Amino acid sequence: MVVGRFAPSPSGRMHLGNLFAALMAWCSVRAAGGEMVLRMEDLDPQRTNAVFADWIRRDLERFGMDWDREVPCQSTRTAAYDAAFAKLEALRLVYPCYCSRSQVHAASAPHLGQSEFVYAGTCRNLTEAERAAQTRPPAWRLRAADEEWVVCDGVQGRYSELLSRDCGDFVIRRADGVYAYQLAVVVDDADNGVTQVVRGRDLLASTPRQQYLFSLLGKPAPEYFHVPLLLAPDGRRLSKRDGDLDLGALLERVSPEEIIGALAFAAGLLEKKVPISAAELATIFHWRKVQHDDITLTL
Ligand code: GLU
Repeated sequence: MVVGRFAPSPSGRMHLGNLFAALMAWCSVRAAGGEMVLRMEDLDPQRTNAVFADWIRRDLERFGMDWDREVPCQSTRTAAYDAAFAKLEALRLVYPCYCSRSQVHAASAPHLGQSEFVYAGTCRNLTEAERAAQTRPPAWRLRAADEEWVVCDGVQGRYSELLSRDCGDFVIRRADGVYAYQLAVVVDDADNGVTQVVRGRDLLASTPRQQYLFSLLGKPAPEYFHVPLLLAPDGRRLSKRDGDLDLGALLERVSPEEIIGALAFAAGLLEKKVPISAAELATIFHWRKVQHDDITLTL
């Protein structure tokens, strides 16, 4: 059975891009008669808030998207992440990193355009004495394998990375103790029995790391569908921060069905821009129809 998931970060209200990814995930699962899981990704206590989680649940409902179970949110899952971390340590693949940049962004999903750089391996082979001489608390990095990981993405096609060259050793736990997105999402998807991941294409570049983690933890990786991003009319990516096409403001002048119709038309799922409910869209949904180019939406 297909098990899909909504995995929103409650760091703000959903914008249209989040809504679009959720809609594709939901239609895909419902079209396959599968199960939908909701998981709040509130890893970073400084950036997330239960109020936003409520908003997200309400917005999903308002757009006619339901879920079969809500699984524990990430802030309650530390014991599971500890266990995975211990397993990776036992494989001798984890080391402390004292570089300051390693603290940045590790807990949040790294979206396209955020500075991701190949780690130079500065702390990879420090001696015990060198480690003992450090004063700052370390972040923890996973050694990247000298292996190519290939993603056969259901929308974007083939994407591959030689992890050691294209990514380098990556942070799985921040210096403040917060687990990184990459580790948490893999542990959660495995424990939640997720077989299908649908999300924005900005996370395609994280997928080889996640496949590598699944294999180290001895779990099967799900199938992946990275959907197009939504662009503002001036070509910029929509973001929560800008309040771009804010759902609240939009819903004052257009209905959920009109928004779904506009999204489905722009994505290639409808031949005309007509209002449609999520449930109706699921009956005509097929991945073959979903285009891979980013979408500029007019409403
Ligand atoms: N919580 C992540 C986000 O808000 C999504 C993670 C994922 O789908 O893997 O971007």
